[in-house]
Amino acid sequence: MSLSLNLTDVSPLQFAVTPNPAPKSDTERAEILAAPGFGQFFTDHMVQIHWSERGGWHRAAVEPYGKISLDPAAAVLHYAQEIFEGLKAYRHADGSIWSFRPDQNALRFQRSARRLALPELPTQVFLDSLTKLVTQDAAWVHEGGETSLYLRPFMFASEAFLGVRAARKVYFFVIASPAGSYFKGGVQPVSIWLSTDYARAAHGGTGAAKTGGNYAASLLPQQEAYEHGCDQVLFLQDGQLEELGGMNLVLVTKDGTLVTPESDSILEGITRDSLMQLAADRGHAVERRAVSLAEWRDGAASGDIVEAFACGTAAVVNPIARFKSKDFTIELPEIPAEQSLAMSLRRELTDIQYGRAEDAHNWLYRVDGGAR
Ligand SMILES: *Cc1c(COP(=O)(O)O)cnc(C)c1O
Repeated sequence: MSLSLNLTDVSPLQFAVTPNPAPKSDTERAEILAAPGFGQFFTDHMVQIHWSERGGWHRAAVEPYGKISLDPAAAVLHYAQEIFEGLKAYRHADGSIWSFRPDQNALRFQRSARRLALPELPTQVFLDSLTKLVTQDAAWVHEGGETSLYLRPFMFASEAFLGVRAARKVYFFVIASPAGSYFKGGVQPVSIWLSTDYARAAHGGTGAAKTGGNYAASLLPQQEAYEHGCDQVLFLQDGQLEELGGMNLVLVTKDGTLVTPESDSILEGITRDSLMQLAADRGHAVERRAVSLAEWRDGAASGDIVEAFACGTAAVVNPIARFKSKDFTIELPEIPAEQSLAMSLRRELTDIQYGRAEDAHNWLYRVDGGAR
């Protein structure tokens, strides 16, 4: 009798689970969760999976959070062959823990991998890795306000080799970091610096991939933004608006149309896509197209553009009050939060994420190991 195995039916990888022998005490964890900030503290565990050209994906593990050892010749340290993702886990009032559209993060991770010549992690392994980690570190997902557990999957070339080619050995990790409410004292609209001297990405480059190099390219212009009293930097390409260093840009016209720049060098945000969908559900027109700086300047001056906001997983929506560049400043009218479309969409989206509103699009995915 021959043995036939339907590969789609078996879990592609089994995770070995090694509980942390010295996890943070309840008191220590409570102290951290009381004021987590962003990205400063990490949970007791992490996921680690290895890939090699010969062995494929192997050695999947949930293990104690800790330092990793790399050969100084590891390719990532020299040629930046690296990608990452960012998403959150939210605790609902009934205690269950959910993430938001993680299938989209899994697919984007595969697209990023293709561009960076890294192996594509199967989407089910991506999703399983989130569930395994959150299940193990469930005590770190607190409830209340806009608190969440930020999940950071990432992959990099670990092969020790200085020749320039795609690495044959790769590491995948997921780490998790508790995150507090983004807006503590209510919404604070931000000022944006328009970078004219620097770009973050180019046509045909890596702008559409979530890779560390794009962030490295944005740090100097970000410093320039701070020097001009701005919070964030907005990048242009050929006179067209692109996006911020780590958030997408959306404009709102006076007839309630949402307009967002489209180009092959913009990172396609899942937050932006979700907000545009919610706006469309309400009957708003949504446009994804090239937007020139001139269109934006004229629209803001004439009152045709009434709102602008940045959006991404961390802040969800960040209203923009002011755009500054070397030779002009555009002030947007001050809109009370109750009248702002951006803030109303933000509320609707977070209500879905925290289980306070119906999830009509089936966007939530349970990650605490419980039944859906
Ligand atoms: C991650 C990211 C965003 C936002 O994407 P979300 O999926 O909404 O979090 C936008 N721009 C850049 C450059 C990013 O890296």
